[in-house]
Formats: sequence, C-alpha cells, structure tokens
Amino acid sequence: MSAQRTRALVAAWGPVLEALPDAAWVVDTRTRRVVLVNDAACQLLGAERDALVDMAADSMIAGTEDMAFWASSDGEVAAGLCSETVIYTTQGRLVPVLRSVRPMEEGGRGHALVRLTDFSAQRRAEDERETVVAELQATLEATADGILVTDLDGRVRACNRRLAEIWSMSLALFDSRDEKALADWMRCSVVDPEAYVRRLKALQDTPLLGSTERLTLHTGQVLERVTRPLWCRGRPQGRVFSFRDMTESLATDQRIALVASTDPLTGLPNRRLLAETVAAAAGTSRRTGRGFALMVIDLDHFRHVNDTLGHEIGDQVLKDLARRIQGCMREDDQLARIGGDQFALLVEGADTAAAEAMARRVLALVAQPCNLDGVQFTITCSVGVALCPANGSTLDQLVTHAEAAMRQVKDAGRANYRIYQTRAHADFRKHMTLDHAMRQALVSGRFKLHFQPQVHLESGRLVGAEALIRWRDPELGDVSPAQFIPVAEETGFIIAIGDWVLSQAVRQAALWQQRGTPVPIAINVSALQFQQGQFVDRVASVLAVSGLPPSLLELELTESILVRDAEDALHRLQALSRLGVKLSIDDFGTGYSSLAYLKRFPIDKLKVDRSFVQGLPDDDSDVGIVRAILQMARALNMKVVAEGVETETQRQFLLGEGCDMFQGFLFAPALDHLSFERRLLSARDPQAAPLMRLVHG
Ligand code: C2E
Ligand code: MG
Ligand code: MG
Repeated sequence: MSAQRTRALVAAWGPVLEALPDAAWVVDTRTRRVVLVNDAACQLLGAERDALVDMAADSMIAGTEDMAFWASSDGEVAAGLCSETVIYTTQGRLVPVLRSVRPMEEGGRGHALVRLTDFSAQRRAEDERETVVAELQATLEATADGILVTDLDGRVRACNRRLAEIWSMSLALFDSRDEKALADWMRCSVVDPEAYVRRLKALQDTPLLGSTERLTLHTGQVLERVTRPLWCRGRPQGRVFSFRDMTESLATDQRIALVASTDPLTGLPNRRLLAETVAAAAGTSRRTGRGFALMVIDLDHFRHVNDTLGHEIGDQVLKDLARRIQGCMREDDQLARIGGDQFALLVEGADTAAAEAMARRVLALVAQPCNLDGVQFTITCSVGVALCPANGSTLDQLVTHAEAAMRQVKDAGRANYRIYQTRAHADFRKHMTLDHAMRQALVSGRFKLHFQPQVHLESGRLVGAEALIRWRDPELGDVSPAQFIPVAEETGFIIAIGDWVLSQAVRQAALWQQRGTPVPIAINVSALQFQQGQFVDRVASVLAVSGLPPSLLELELTESILVRDAEDALHRLQALSRLGVKLSIDDFGTGYSSLAYLKRFPIDKLKVDRSFVQGLPDDDSDVGIVRAILQMARALNMKVVAEGVETETQRQFLLGEGCDMFQGFLFAPALDHLSFERRLLSARDPQAAPLMRLVHG
C-alpha cells in the first residue's frame, strides 16, 4: 500500500475508529494486512500500535474460523463474518468477544472493518448468576421447610420438594407448577378453608405484610406458615411462604407441658397449673363479678399412715382420696396436689355458703373408711377456705389465707373446715376497745359468774353446774363470752380471766359445800391457760386455800389441748387426775375424735356439742354422731353430758339412748348464784316439786 493511500485512509478513518467504544482495526483486503488500529484494540490485545499495524489479518485472531475466512477471502469480503470467539492477548489472557468483519466499500473489495466487543464482564455476571441460582435451588431443597415463592399475582416462581411432601401433593401436581391446581389443593387440605382463603386475600391485598400463623390440615398435621414480602430493587415483587410441620414438636411440647404441670402420683394438676387456672378465674371474676373459692385440704396425721402402713399404701390413699374429691366436683372446678398430703380445690362461682357446703362434702368424702390391703382405717382432713376476690386473687394470696384458716382448724382439733376471716380496720379497733374494756372490767370487778345446771337424765336430779362468765359493761352493755373470750385468747388476757374464774368458782363451790348443798362445778379452761407452767400448782393451791374437795371441781378442756402437745398434756392431765379433779372434754365431736387417742387420757366426761344436739332426733347424721359418741364413751368408761338441750323430744331421745346428763334451756340457762341456789335448795327436797316442772317456773 502506498504511503499516500495510507495517509489518506488514516486521515479519513482514524478519528472514526478512535470514536468507537470497541476494539477495531481496518484490514486491506488485497494484502490482508492491518492498516489502521484504534487505542481500544491496542489495550485489549496488550500490544503497541506499531507492532499491530501491518500484521497479517489472520494472526490477529488466531481461531480456525478467522484463518479460514481470510484464506478464502481472495481480496473480497462482501459476505463478512460475525460470531463469538476468543482472543489471546499478548499476556496470554483469554478474552471472550463478539467479532465482526464488515466490508467498508461496496462489493467488499478494498478494506474491511474488524470489530471486537469484549463480553468477558457480561459472561462473568452470567456465570455468577447461574451459580447463585444453583446455590439457591440447592439451599431450597436442603431446608426442612416447604418453600413457595410467588409473584404479586400469585404465580409460582420457585418451590421445593419438601413443599410437596408437607402438603402430601402428588409429584405430577408438583411438577406441573400449575398455580391454580396447587392453590386448590392447599385450600382443600386445610380444615378451615374459608379462614384460609380470607387470610390469603388479606396478604395479597397488603403486599408489605408479613405474618406467622398456624394451619390445621385434614391429615391432623399442624403447619406453621411464615410469609414475608419478596423485595427487589426497593419494591415488593412477590411473597415467600415457608411451611413447617409442627405436628411432632407440638405433641412433644404438650407432653412436656403435661409432665411439668401435673403431679406424677395422682395425675392431678400441680401448683403451677393451678396458679394459671386461678389467674384465669380471677380475670373472669373481675369481668363478671362472680367470685370463686380456694380450699386447702390438709390430711390429718397422714404421717402415721406412711409410718405404720408404708409408703405404698400412703400413695394409694392419696390417689383414692383424690378420686373421691373429684367425684363431687363440677366441670369448672379444679383439684390440684400442692404438697405431700395437701390438696387445693378451686370451686368456681362459689360464695361463702357454697364453699361451706363443698367443704362439708369434702370432709364427709375423705372421712369414709379406707380399705386397703385388708386394713381398714379412717383418715380425716382439715380444710381452710379463702374467697376470691375478698381474700386475694392470686394463688399465693389465696393459699396463704386458706392455710391460715386450715391451721386454725388443726389447732381446734382437726377434721373440720374454716373460712378465712379478714380483720378489717374497723374490726381491729373494736378488738382494741374490747381488750381495754376487759382489763378495766377485771380490776373493777364487773365480771360475774353464772351457773348453768346439769341434770341427770334418768332421775331428773340437778347433779352439777357449769360456771359461765358474764360481763355487763357500763358502755358496751352485756358482752357475750362468745365475743370477748376469743379476743382474750388472742391477747393472752385469758390467763388472768381464767385465773379469776378458777378462784371465784372454787370459792362459790366451797361456800355451797359448807352450807350443806355440795354441787360439782365445772369451769372452762382455755388452751393457753392450761399450757401455763404453773397451771396444775395453781389449781392445787386454790383448792387447798378454799378447802373444797377436789372431786367437786371439774375442768372442761377443749380437744385442741389434747391434740397440740399430746405428751405434755398427758402429764398435766395425769397430775390433775391424781389431785382428784374431774376432767371433761367440751364441745366434743367438733374436733379430732379418735378412740385410740382418748384412751390415753384420764378423762371422766364428754360434753356433746350443742350443734349435734340441735338436729335430734330427726337429723340422721346428728343421730349417728350422738350414738357414736355414746358408744365410744361407754367403751372408755366415760360419762356423757349433752349440751344445749332445748326441747322435750331432744331430752327423750337422749334418755332413750342412755345419755347420762344434759344441760340446756329446757331446764335452765346459766343463772346468777342466788337463782341457782334456789334451784339447788328445791332440788334437795324431792317433795317440793318434781324437778322437770321447774323448767319454766
Ligand atoms: P361452752 O363452754 O360450750 O358453754 C355453753 C354455752 O352454751 C354457753 O354460752 C351457754 O349459755 C350456752 N347454752 C347453754 N344451754 C343452751 C341452750 O339450751 N341453747 C343455747 N342456744 N345455748 C345454750 P356462753 O355462756 O355464751 O358461752 C359461750 C362459750 O364461751 C362457752 O361455751 C365457753 O367456750 C366460753 N366461756 C364461757 N365462760 C367461760 C369461762 O369462764 N372461761 C373460758 N375459758 N371460756 C368461757
Ligand atoms: Mg363449757
Ligand atoms: Mg360446750
């Protein structure tokens, strides 16, 4: 090529070639040598311009296709060439390119433009994308959850085989990727298709919404469906759903929850579960205004059962008692085991009256005889009751109060129930006022003793009296001992009162004895007074000072005295008995009554509590109890006094059953010492008037 032609070519095409973004050069078709090359080509090939100009066209790209093209060109390239190929740079780098050879003049003779488009970056991106897709697919298939990716219109974009497994889809259905068929299958599989469709619609209407929910299938499976919007370039493009089969883990959870919330021996709820039930019941109570009762049921002397019969029998007893109590519960009630020998019973909707009725039922059911392994025995229980909302609304509050009431039952001799009593502020003031007035009454001599006659049932003779304290206060008026004795017991003032009663009663009895009308006087002794270290000595010295024969003094003790510290009580009672003083159990039947227990103590008399006499002779359970007490007393060689006899039919019944004595309004209430004396004198003279006619006169 002449230098002149080359210069003309460079001048005409040089700038055009440089303006191209791609590598390009011009070939003389006749010589098949490069005549012009641009910067981009120099860079791509990694060579100097001088080295490239005049190079053979087929050595620029040494592929077979290019060599064949140039070999066959024969000075004419009208057909041109366009295809993908690779080039080797001078640094030995392989670069993928799109190479085109085009004629620059008509007819294809003269010059050809060779142009290379480097697409190594695009290829790299494509490779990268393919890798990512492959990785994603592998990840999808490797997850334990079923995955479904849809676009905004619900069309399936991706899913994995686990989806088909979880939803029990056929492979044909899964492979079809037919979104309508897939959606139909899923909708028909859930137990509540309407809710399912409603929820899907809501999700579709709010593409930004994410959610986690549970689906129950007809197969019994429970699936957790988590869905999140699929974001692309800052916009939601669709949704990802993942489905996890929760069936087994839920069953395990339920098993764990069951184990954690039940007592393994009885299968009853434990304290934890009961706390939840109480919390729920308290919530309902706040809304509806209907309260409930919580009962603490504590078995009496259960340790003896374990110690003497063994733990296996003990366990059976617990199971047996739990079943009995469950037998009298309503559907919403809950019985829980909250301690070794302690149960708690939630009684839904119960007020005081309903709780009392339930407590009585529980007492009766528990007290039915047990017959295990050929051994027959009876267990009793002590029940304390707290009411929601009056006494609290959490399990802890209610149990604390119910236990306090239950302990009072234990102290009073067990086998009974008690409703917890809150001491309101007003009550507390009354309590303090009473305590103060009582102390004043003692120093001012306002206490008096009255005497209630005790009558021999068969002969109708007056055979004794119970001394009962009376108090008329200038400000408070007549205050009943039922009111102030409990307060005195609480403050300890009962010791002073008791001591006054002892000396006063003994003094009076000694006077009557000196006047020739000896009559045994019974006084009430409180537990606290009895427990005083010098009690026995005090009784002995009062008797000695007065000269009263000890057999004319009787001490009425409560069952709680025997129960509390049995060994200590036994020693004192034996000492008193040696003195010659008579001993009786007051209000018998309301506390812990056991033959084996009583046998150990030197007791002379049992006083049947007024509450059992009231229902005679019609109330079957009263009849049963009174007969049992009489039988027990006969076996132990004790006398029986019936308290609170108000009617002739009661008297007749007691007489018929062989009861020894009675006291009550039928004969006389507690009388002041002068009135009593008159009764005593007329009774001494049987001719004066038959005793029973004195009842109303
Ligand atoms: P308690 O020892 O069981 O006394 C019997 C109570 O029943 C007395 O009530 C008596 O008045 C009442 N009563 C007697 N017959 C009848 C009847 O036919 N019908 C009815 N409805 N009631 C009858 P009171 O005097 O109010 O005494 C109540 C309790 O106070 C006594 O029960 C006793 O536990 C205690 N108490 C009374 N005086 C003393 C005392 O001097 N010392 C101590 N520590 N406690 C006393
Ligand atoms: Mg009494
Ligand atoms: Mg009594």
